[in-house]
Amino acid sequence: MVQVIDGKQIAASVIDKVKAASAELQARNGVRTGLAVIIVGDDPASHTYVGAKSRMAKDCGFNSVQYTLSTETSQEELAALVTTLNADESIHGILVQLPLPKHLSSEAIIQSILPEKDVDGLNVVNVGKLAIGDMETGLVSCTPAGAMLLIRRKHGEDLSGLTAVVIGRSNLFGKPMAQLLLNANATVTVAHSRTNNLPHVCRGADILIAAVGRPEMVKADWVKRGATVIDVGINRIDAPERGKGKTRLVGDVAFAEVSEVSESITPVPGGVGPMTIAMLMANTVIAAHRTVGRALKIF
Ligand code: NAP
Repeated sequence: MVQVIDGKQIAASVIDKVKAASAELQARNGVRTGLAVIIVGDDPASHTYVGAKSRMAKDCGFNSVQYTLSTETSQEELAALVTTLNADESIHGILVQLPLPKHLSSEAIIQSILPEKDVDGLNVVNVGKLAIGDMETGLVSCTPAGAMLLIRRKHGEDLSGLTAVVIGRSNLFGKPMAQLLLNANATVTVAHSRTNNLPHVCRGADILIAAVGRPEMVKADWVKRGATVIDVGINRIDAPERGKGKTRLVGDVAFAEVSEVSESITPVPGGVGPMTIAMLMANTVIAAHRTVGRALKIF
């Protein structure tokens, strides 16, 4: 019987720890954890994500500040806001919601965020720290950090002897995921659109992680019996069975058929998704603790 990994429940346990850590920081040091979220433009999906992040930050007892900027915002104006927030001692985490409107360079903006406030873990300093296995002073990208927590709950801290395949090599997910797995001693393969015979590569995985953006691409015959399958994809597809014009979310894994062969699997929605926002809160309270010289381990 397959184990469906309950990301909502595990995310809730992370949030409980974040709330306790932020309350303790305020009580002991008089420091209220501060998160600034910047959104540029009016993309509805981005507004939904940002709204959820700001609400969760408030729920965690943070000072949650949201900057909603118009689509016409210039590179200089956005850069000036980041500079101001970098210097603001009440702000411990800065998140710029991606994607930015096309006329803005997201890379320049991300790299201008102070590494110690880069709670999305995308600054090259944090990427480099992850690459050399420094988990003490860096900040790790939220979605891979969340996926790794789900994997650890199943397999423990040490993945020695286990083979992991990550499908997808983005800076946001695939590469940091591979680093986290490698740091935990897994034997890691990163597959992508130029990989030959992807089903064969995937069948070698004890832990298979899909982050592609193609609905239900991973089929049952791609999966080793007894594998752990982590589905990162979020794809909206037509669902005429629910009525005219209706849609539903699916992952990159064909959930029903892969459930027949895997030992554990994350659902979409309710798997990796809730972990992302929980890890953002965790990174922010970790960053706040570091400002008073305390190392905080939440996961
Ligand atoms: P991305 O930047 O578009 O990267 C997609 C990766 O998939 C690329 O490395 C690409 O290979 C690879 N790929 C594309 N088609 C392929 C194919 N047919 N076979 C093998 N590999 C293929 O996407 P991303 O930002 O990593 O996100 C991936 C998915 O995760 C999306 O569905 C996204 O919505 C979801 N996501 C979810 C969360 C969450 O909170 N749960 C967070 C982030 C992302 P190349 O490099 O060769 O082009």
